[in-house]
Amino acid sequence: MTGELAEQADTVRSARDRIDFDTARVYAIPLRTKFRGILLREGVVLRGPAGWGEFCPFPEYDDAEAAGWLATAVEQAALGWPAPVRDRIPVNVTVPAVDPRRAHQIVAGSGCATAKVKVADHPGSLDEDRARVAAVREALGPAGAIRVDANAVWDVPTAVRHIEALDAAAGGLQYVEQPCAEVSELAAVRRAVRVPIAADESIRRAEDPTRVALAGAADIAVIKCMPLGGVRRALRVAAEAGLPCVVSSALETGVGLAAELALAGALPELELACGLGTLSLLTGDLLADSPQVIGGYLPVPRRPPEPDPELLERFAHPDPARTRWWLDRLHRVRTLL
Ligand SMILES: [Mg+2]
Repeated sequence: MTGELAEQADTVRSARDRIDFDTARVYAIPLRTKFRGILLREGVVLRGPAGWGEFCPFPEYDDAEAAGWLATAVEQAALGWPAPVRDRIPVNVTVPAVDPRRAHQIVAGSGCATAKVKVADHPGSLDEDRARVAAVREALGPAGAIRVDANAVWDVPTAVRHIEALDAAAGGLQYVEQPCAEVSELAAVRRAVRVPIAADESIRRAEDPTRVALAGAADIAVIKCMPLGGVRRALRVAAEAGLPCVVSSALETGVGLAAELALAGALPELELACGLGTLSLLTGDLLADSPQVIGGYLPVPRRPPEPDPELLERFAHPDPARTRWWLDRLHRVRTLL
């Protein structure tokens, strides 16, 4: 372990020891539309001396992967964040795999100038994907920006064919996010199409992004502090990637989303809209005063927000076995920090 990494580990450990893990509350909030294959967002919020943090790694992640998520919660609850350099963040509206009419409605009502559209939701989705991006273009107008996210499902020839078709249907794409799984495949797609490539799933661990940049595989880095282990680590990752960054949410409640907003607020450069307008995908929030997207922007929080006691009650996980599962997971992962 290098000196810097050892120092970071010490900081996280001493921060962890200042959190009262008995304050942990397990929540469950239904989603409005199926997203990432899930209909219920679950996680844990916990309190420390600086405020509350959120631990919400997706259920299929193992403990080692979940440790980054807990480090983010611990940073938020015990240390707070570095000072921001801006006070509001431009955000994209997120369009799930819905029909064109619904896609148009979502975008037209958003106030956002940038839309991120889910594509490649299932095999043979190209016609639906084309219709969806065309409807989004109609709703956004010619000046708006459209990005698509394939979540790593295409092989190289499929990616090239679909990207070209979607670029035409959209009247120009701003970028395509993670068309393929492997970094070498991203590089091959990037050489074959004129649409810029964004790396998302390829940047999951703090040691990955420099490699992405070196491989010539991406034009844009999508970063999330949840998997990267906190705002401070994500800022370092962004600096090492040396690419324009887009901060994206991990579908947190307003508690954890605040960390992503703090990251976007503290990035030295921010040219592109971020994927942080995701609270609208949930049917509720743990904050009484959830941040609202106004004119396409979200405010940068000054400090970690407090969940509302009544909302913690309302969204307390109804299933005792599942609550136990989350608390057991939390206590296992805590020993890995
Ligand atoms: Mg993505």
